[in-house]
Amino acid sequence: MSFSQRLFTAILPRRWAESMEAESRSWMVRCPCGCERSVWELGGIRWKASGQPRRYMRCPKCGQLAWHSVTRDPAANPPIPSGKYHV
Ligand SMILES: [Zn+2]
Repeated sequence: MSFSQRLFTAILPRRWAESMEAESRSWMVRCPCGCERSVWELGGIRWKASGQPRRYMRCPKCGQLAWHSVTRDPAANPPIPSGKYHV
């Protein structure tokens, strides 16, 4: 885990931390070459977010600096609890 991932999982209640990790894992960063990794694998966090941002970064597979699309995989999308958390 990256520093920010450790920080957030340490300070958030466990349910939130699990939800954050599950959601971050459901966001996929895709290179034009087809290489795909989740935001979580990249050490990032994407939680309670929408839209489809893009990231300019180097791909470890093809080695090119390229715009990566960030999309959410609906199949890997767990239902988000509606605001009621029992901590
Ligand atoms: Zn690539």
